[in-house]
Amino acid sequence: MRYVQVDTQSDPHSETSPTTEKQKNLSNMLAAELKAIGLTDAHTDEFGYVYATIPCNTNKNVPVICFCSHVDTAPDCSGTNVKPILHKNYNGEDIVLPDDTTQVISTKDYPYLKEHIGNDIITASGLTLLGADDKAGVSIIMDLANYLVTHPEIKHGIIKILFTPDEEVGKGTAKVDLKKLAADYAYTLDGGEIGTYEDETFSADGATITINGVSAHPGYAKDKMINAIKIAGEILAALPKNEFSPETTSGREGYIHPVGVSGIAEKTTIEFIVRDFETQNLAKHEARLRSIAENVMKNYPKASMQFKAHEQYRNMKEVLDKNPHMIDNLIEAYKRASLTPRNEPIRGGTDGSRLSFMGLPCPNVFTGMHAIHSKHEWVGVRDMEKAVEVLAHLVQVWEERS
Ligand SMILES: [Zn+2]
Repeated sequence: MRYVQVDTQSDPHSETSPTTEKQKNLSNMLAAELKAIGLTDAHTDEFGYVYATIPCNTNKNVPVICFCSHVDTAPDCSGTNVKPILHKNYNGEDIVLPDDTTQVISTKDYPYLKEHIGNDIITASGLTLLGADDKAGVSIIMDLANYLVTHPEIKHGIIKILFTPDEEVGKGTAKVDLKKLAADYAYTLDGGEIGTYEDETFSADGATITINGVSAHPGYAKDKMINAIKIAGEILAALPKNEFSPETTSGREGYIHPVGVSGIAEKTTIEFIVRDFETQNLAKHEARLRSIAENVMKNYPKASMQFKAHEQYRNMKEVLDKNPHMIDNLIEAYKRASLTPRNEPIRGGTDGSRLSFMGLPCPNVFTGMHAIHSKHEWVGVRDMEKAVEVLAHLVQVWEERS
C-alpha cells in the first residue's frame, strides 16, 4: 500500500531513460529498503533499474535465479495520488469506490471476487488505477527477500532481484545490464490469477504496404489520376470479415491487424501488425495479406505497391523449451504451495519474452492482480502471499535439484 502511493506512471512519448524521472522515487525507496534488510549491494542505477543480491547459503552449485518486476504503472489511467483501500474480511458484495461512487467493482464483472470472501483485498479509491500492475509483483519480491534473509534454514543459491522501469511503454529491457545482473534464469512476477503461469507469448512481425498512385491536378485529372488513398481503402475492405483479425480470433489463433494509415493521393502507407504463436505462420499470414493486396492492385496497372515485413518479437517458448527444468521446477513449487498450475499463453508480448531472447530465459508468475490499467484494479492479499510461498518453494527446489 506504500508502494502504490508513489506515482510511477511511465510516458510513451518520452525519449529519456527512464521515460519519467519520478519512477526513480520508488526505485530509490526499494533499494534503500533492500539495503536495510542487509542486501548490501542494492542500488538504483541512472536509468531507474534496481539491482540487488541475496547471497547463497548452501554449499551446492545452484544456478543464479533472478526475480523481476516493473515499478512503472500504465499511461492509460491516472496514477497520481493513488489512495489504496484495504477491504478487510471482504463480504462478497459489490465494492463502491468512495471518491467516485459511479465506479463499482462488481462481482458480476469480476466473479473471481467471490473466491475472496473472508479475505482481505486492496482497491484504489475511484479516481486512479491501483498500480497492482506491477507493484503486487514488487511487493511479492520484497516480501520474499525479507523472508529469505530472516529464514536462513531455507537453503538457496544466489538470488538476484531486478526492478525495471518503463515496462508499460515497451522499454522495460532497453537499458537493462544483463552482464551486471549475472543471472542464469529469471522469473517475472507480472501475471494475473492465482495458480497461473505463462511461458508462451505471440511471435510478432510488423508489415507495411506502400501504394504509389499517380498524382495530377484534380481539375485536369480525368483518366490520369490514380488515388493511392482509395486503393488503400479497397485493400482494407478486402480483408476477411469473419476471421484473421483481433476482433474475430481468440485462444491460439493468429491474426493480421491494420494499426495505421497515412498518406496523400500520390502515396499511401498502411501499417499492420502480424501475430501468431507459431513463428513460421507469420510468413504465411504475410503472404496471404500480400496476395489480398496484389489482387486489388491488378485493377490499377499504373499504380505500384511495395510490401515489407519486419520482426518485432518472438514467442519466448522457443527459448523456454530448451530449458524445460525452469518450468518443471516452477510446477513443483506450485504443487508444494498446494496450487494446481495452469498455463496460459499470452496473446501479446512481455518483458519476459524480450529477456528470454536476450539470453535470460524468463517465464511469468501470477501476482493476483485484476482489472489492470483501470480504476477497478484490485488485488487479493492472499494471492500475493501465495505467490511469496511459491517463490520460497521455488528457490528450494532449485537448490535440491542442483
Ligand atoms: Zn505489468
